[in-house]
Amino acid sequence: MMKYICRHCGKTYPITSMRYICECGSLLHLSYPKTPPDFGSLGNDHSLWRYRSALPPFERETIEQITMGEGGTPIIRLEENLFGKADYLMPTLSFKDRGAVMLAALMAEAGVKRCAIDSSGNAATAVAAYAARGGITTEVFVPASTSAKKLTQIEAHGGRIHAIDGSRDETARATIDYVNASGIFYASHIFNPFFWEGTKTYIYELYEQFETLPEVLIVPVGNGTLLMGVYIALQELKAWNPIDSYPLVIAFQAANCAPLAQAYEKRSLVPQSVAVSPTLAEGIATGVPARGKDILQAVHELGGRFVTVTEEEIIKAHSDLAKKGVYVEHTSAANYAAYRVAVEKDATLADKKALIPLCGAGLKSAH
Ligand SMILES: *Cc1c(COP(=O)(O)O)cnc(C)c1O
Ligand SMILES: [Zn+2]
Repeated sequence: MMKYICRHCGKTYPITSMRYICECGSLLHLSYPKTPPDFGSLGNDHSLWRYRSALPPFERETIEQITMGEGGTPIIRLEENLFGKADYLMPTLSFKDRGAVMLAALMAEAGVKRCAIDSSGNAATAVAAYAARGGITTEVFVPASTSAKKLTQIEAHGGRIHAIDGSRDETARATIDYVNASGIFYASHIFNPFFWEGTKTYIYELYEQFETLPEVLIVPVGNGTLLMGVYIALQELKAWNPIDSYPLVIAFQAANCAPLAQAYEKRSLVPQSVAVSPTLAEGIATGVPARGKDILQAVHELGGRFVTVTEEEIIKAHSDLAKKGVYVEHTSAANYAAYRVAVEKDATLADKKALIPLCGAGLKSAH
């Protein structure tokens, strides 16, 4: 039986419930029976639905209605030991498609007609697009500073923009007020754990593409939706035996907005309250991450680390990647910057096979 569970108080909720949070105020996790993918004989569906046995059990008709063939993105060699996974080649041009397709399928099966989401841009774009395929209208809350190109794309999918004059964190508060007042479904990539069931396929794909996992995985962390997917998939692959130890997970944040990296430095499992300055990495500019404790716990359990990247390092990485033929948004270029910082701090990493996600297309960003 598929259900939401609260790890704090133990309460469970049917997935048809419209809840986004437990009665006790804690965020929810998801539980359902899964079967390990039969790696090596998964057939010729190259979308992430090739892993269907390990994904939420949606009806085939639902998947056919919602899917756009998301997943199955290529690997690009960037340096002798460094590879990038080109998730900017998704239907809506960012890795958020992996999770958005799960939320849209969930809404289609639950009969949801209207939903709300807040994001710095890419998650809302993906949810608006996949929800539209299910005949669902999306109320999109974004900081007023969000790149105009992302807003145009959201509106084209029928998303209704609520531009909030404030930070990403103020936008999140405005959304929750709206959801509580209107009672519409909160299709949040942060609150709703279905999202990670999609982002985890990033790791399954790597496992197939490398025939094992790279030794070092760089992972961006704003609200941690890729990180949590990585965490779940690594645990699954270990439990199912394809791997017997975890790769080194190096999570990173922008130095200008690093509540979790600072917690890691202090060996704390609680997000730090930090002063936030603007960053070119708008996709990870989350000063108050709602899932902060889960993310810190996940990195801790994986034996991972955090690093931070400066604005100068992001700008350089953006230009260096473009010279290698890869045009991504600054938030994505920050992954390359993080790899450089990690190698500077620990020279042994230079000899290891490493992978960065190339999460979002360059044409989306304002700069
Ligand atoms: C969303 C996003 C991230 C970070 O994801 P979180 O879930 O907020 O940690 C990184 N890069 C890009 C391009 C994104 O769209
Ligand atoms: Zn609870």
